[in-house]
Amino acid sequence: MKESACLLHTIYIGLGSNLENPVSQINAARIAIGLIDGVTEVAFSSLYHSLPMGPQDQPDYVNAVIGVETRLAPIDLLHQLQAIEAAQGRVRKGERWGARTVDLDVLLYGDQDIDIPDLRVPHIGIAERSFVLYPLFEIAPQLVIPGKGILADLVANCPLDGLKRMA
Ligand code: AMP
Repeated sequence: MKESACLLHTIYIGLGSNLENPVSQINAARIAIGLIDGVTEVAFSSLYHSLPMGPQDQPDYVNAVIGVETRLAPIDLLHQLQAIEAAQGRVRKGERWGARTVDLDVLLYGDQDIDIPDLRVPHIGIAERSFVLYPLFEIAPQLVIPGKGILADLVANCPLDGLKRMA
């Protein structure tokens, strides 16, 4: 086991859904993440309503960000998240930014920079996406994103692009 896998890290995961009752999908994924062996939820943002990126002929999205603590190695955590996506009926059609029952992205893994096959952290789109930055800022306003800068500055420079916090 790598050293990083033994230490307790705070990880932020982005959740998104635009099919089959997105609010239920996000809530189910939140519960499933909390049930992963060795994972403890420490924060969960509000739900946000957002407009689709890419293809516009798809429903709007519901997004949130969860903070967890774990000693799981990054790739093991990714595999657990992909299993949750599959269990919730996610079908990969090869289309970029296509509709999905649930999408789970590892946004941050402590302050680590990770670039290995199948996993890049910080997540590649983290600094430009309002539906990631705003919920992340809600639960962790003090964060500095490795290679990108202070989260508060990124939020200040990121247009909402139709993002709305849900009641
Ligand atoms: P998506 O269609 O957005 O779910 O992208 C899934 C693909 O992105 C998978 O093949 C992952 O291995 C890869 N990937 C790379 N970095 C990450 C990350 N930080 N979180 C989730 N998936 C990632």
